Amino acid sequence: MRADPALDRSTCDRARIARDPRFDGAFFTGVVTTRIYCRPTCPVKPAKSRNVVFFPTAAAAERAGFRPCLRCRPEAAPGTPAWRGAAATVSRALRLIERGYLDDGKRVGDLADTLGMTARHLRRLFVRHAGASPTAVATTRRVQRAKALVDGTAMPMSAIAFAAGFASIRRFNAAFRAVYRRPPTAVRRARRRRAGRQRLPLLAVKKR
Ligand SMILES: [Zn+2]
Repeated sequence: MRADPALDRSTCDRARIARDPRFDGAFFTGVVTTRIYCRPTCPVKPAKSRNVVFFPTAAAAERAGFRPCLRCRPEAAPGTPAWRGAAATVSRALRLIERGYLDDGKRVGDLADTLGMTARHLRRLFVRHAGASPTAVATTRRVQRAKALVDGTAMPMSAIAFAAGFASIRRFNAAFRAVYRRPPTAVRRARRRRAGRQRLPLLAVKKR
């Protein structure tokens, strides 16, 4: 997020007191009594309004003689090089997962190795930048692929499980039920009933 020139003092002050995450990276707060600067989302008790000054960038705060807070780590705020680096790493990991990297029993540790970091660090980055763990992202993707095959083809469920990237039929069934609250066979039966009623062509079924 770029520093917004329209941000005035009272907006910044309200945002930092509310720890409003929408402003994270948009400005930094310098506390004149401690000479420390923070992100708007800093978990430390907010300083009194009369003791704070605002900066559009971390660099501006440092030029003015403030040190970065050790709690909220301004160097990792959105828009900073560290943040962009982490976001780029997660984007790359998401592309690999999309291409099936974690399918067929491969582990998050293998993915982390490929990206040159520990599995723990990769999980942390995912929670911050993707809002879910790598395993959860991969499972969602597999279930989505499977659902498309359940709806659009006459492939047997066992073939769908492997085509969608599940390591076993048991895992396919468990992951599918967790999302749709019913087994894939029930979803396909319901779909066929609807297709029959509406006379929708179900190409793969017709072929048989
Ligand atoms: Zn702080």
